[in-house]
Formats: sequence, structure tokens, C-alpha cells
Amino acid sequence: MSELATEQPVCVTGASGFIGSWIVERLLARGYRVRGTVRDPKKARSVDHLKALPGAAERLELVAAELQDPASLEAAVVGCEVVMHTASPYVLTVDDPQRDLVDPAVEGTRNALAACRKAGSVKRVVLTSSMAAVTDEPDSTRVLTEADWNEGSSLERNPYYYSKTLAEKAAWRFVEEEDVAFDLVVINPFMVIGPSLSPGLNTSNGVFVGLVGGEYPGIVSLTWGMVDVRDVADAHVRAMEVPEASGRYLCANTTISMREAVRLLREKGWGEGRKLPKLGLDGSVGDMLVKLGAQFQPKGVRSYLRTHIGRVPRFDHAKIVDELGLAFRPLEESILETMDDLVKWGHLDPLPSEPTSA
Ligand code: NDP
Repeated sequence: MSELATEQPVCVTGASGFIGSWIVERLLARGYRVRGTVRDPKKARSVDHLKALPGAAERLELVAAELQDPASLEAAVVGCEVVMHTASPYVLTVDDPQRDLVDPAVEGTRNALAACRKAGSVKRVVLTSSMAAVTDEPDSTRVLTEADWNEGSSLERNPYYYSKTLAEKAAWRFVEEEDVAFDLVVINPFMVIGPSLSPGLNTSNGVFVGLVGGEYPGIVSLTWGMVDVRDVADAHVRAMEVPEASGRYLCANTTISMREAVRLLREKGWGEGRKLPKLGLDGSVGDMLVKLGAQFQPKGVRSYLRTHIGRVPRFDHAKIVDELGLAFRPLEESILETMDDLVKWGHLDPLPSEPTSA
């Protein structure tokens, strides 16, 4: 990709989201003009935090766009050289997976790319895909790379994962088959955590609310691959700025098991007056019990548990480090900042304050 003209706005779809908001923040901080899309620019909860960002008054424009409304996306990308397509429904349990997940994700991606082709000005699209498009059943004995694709999901099994896989495949197919003047770079983050710029509770940060809120009957053998939201935003900006960036980039820092996460939280005082799990259910008997008990969970959680219990994701993030120069923040710091942020936004009660010495 040739040099960018910084006077052209960078379009960020899903600007109000957990990841989208941080991308907007990073772009503004680096002096870019930004055109963010939101479903309803009049909804204060979606836009007030964006309007308050440094540089927003001068360089941020917010426009309405809906993934399944091609005209709204066409208007959003007019004149842009770079489009960051982050908007996609991120929920595990829905009434109708085709209507609520797959259609908006896949049609939205195709519509966004078709809008970029029509605009003629676009040189690069950075797409927020997911590790969900890489696997939905990590194999503890195999290291995942950018060459891996999730082949297991369906409308019945991990439908969110399915939506992300189909959307990313549709994007690659689009740039292969259509006559486009832009290149496509894809970021595949693992579970994204960290401080939120917006008041809403993101599905991934919600795991910690569930963990201290007694959602788990015991410590189960789940191991999460995680990455800080600010690193994910940096990855998007680097994917835009590094001319040689190409293909997919696994964006995952490291893994942490539920047992390790519980130990960390307890050490830092998050066990006080909370319902952090105690009972060890992370052995072979526990795995069996959790899989049996999964049938009483909501549908989306059920298939997630069945495909993740007892499995440790392993991955190689060398490509994003070597080619985009991304440095990951220490995970424990991210987790503790996430906890403080959940308190800040009222999703968790604060820790009891330290006794003050008289
Ligand atoms: P959020 O739910 O915070 O943000 C999703 C964004 O998508 C919101 O801005 C939302 O807009 C927008 N959106 C959803 N449906 C539509 C629609 N039909 N039309 C227009 N906009 C829509 O999630 P995240 O920030 O976490 O996710 C952003 C992207 O990152 C998604 O593509 C997600 O799949 C991906 N991702 C997330 C991970 C995570 O752990 N959080 C991990 C890996 C990938 P509105 O505010 O109007 O609802």
C-alpha cells in the first residue's frame, strides 16, 4: 500500500464498541481524522464517550450505518483511504443464530467491502476477525498459526464462532473474486479484555464479572487466550500504517487458566465478600461433571463449554510481533486494570477500602 494521506478520514465501523472505541482513540491520538459509524448517532450511550476523546471535537465525525443497509455503508466510506471494519454482533446466546449472528456478520462484511470498492478511494481494509475464525476447539497439543481455520462451528455449535469464520472467509473471497483496488489485512484477536472507554459491559470483560459473581460452581478447566484491548487497537493502527502488512494476524498475548485467574484475583483482594469459585472441578472427574452440567446452560454457553473444557489453546503470535512490531502488555496488569474498570463503570462493587491509620 502506498503512503496514506492523513487528511482523508479513516472510517471505523462499530466505533461505539469496546474495540472500536479504542481504535478511534488511538487514531485521534496519532493525528488522523476519523469517521466512525454507529447505529444511532443520537444515542448518548454510544457516542458521548467518543465525543469526549482528545481531538474528537476537531477530527471525529460520527455517521449512522447499519450492517445490512448497503447504502449506509457506502455513505460512510466515501473518500476514505482506509476502512477498519470492526462492527459485528458479539454475543454467545441468541434466539436465531442465522438472523442474529451470521446474516449481519457476513452480509455486513460483504456490504462494507462492496462499499469500499464503489468508493474507489480505499487502499486498505483492516478487518476485525477473531480467533473464533481460527478454531472453536483448541487442541492442547497443537500450536495454532495464521494457517488454521475453524472447520467445526455451525448454527448449532458455537454460532458466534461460525459467524466470524464465515464473515472472514467472505472477505477473503471478495478480494479474490472482485476487481478491487484495496488490500485486505485481518486481525484475529483472542478474548479481548481491558479498560473500556464506553459504559457498556463487553461480553469478554463480562467473564470477570461472572467469575467474582458466583456464575461458576467451581474452578473448571477452562484456559483462556487473552489480549488487552489497547494492544488490539494498536494492532489495527499498525496494520494500517505498515505498508507491507498482509494476510491474517493472530492477536493473542498469552493464556491463563481459570485456576490461575482465581488465584490472582484472590491475592489482590477480589475474594473478599465475593463468590470467587473455590471447589476444584478442573480434574478429569470435574471435566466430566461440567460437560454433563453444560446441558443446563444457555445454548451458546453449552457448546462453548463442551468444546473448551480441558483444552489449553496454544498459538504462535510471532507474525504480529515481527511484521507489525506489536508488543503485548503483561496480562496480569491487564486483568487487574479490567477489574478496576469494571468498578469504575458500576459493573462490580468496589473492593472494601484499606483501613486508614489514625
Ligand atoms: P462490542 O459489542 O462492544 O461492539 C460491537 C460493535 O458492532 C458495536 O459498535 C455495535 O454497534 C456494532 N454492531 C453490531 N451489530 C451491528 C449492526 N447490525 N449494524 C451496525 N453495527 C453493528 O464488541 P467488541 O468491540 O468486542 O467487538 C468488535 C469486533 O471485534 C467484532 O467484530 C467482534 O467479533 C470482534 N472480536 C471481539 C473479541 C472480544 O473478545 N471482545 C475477540 C475477537 C474478536 P452498536 O453500538 O450500535 O450496537
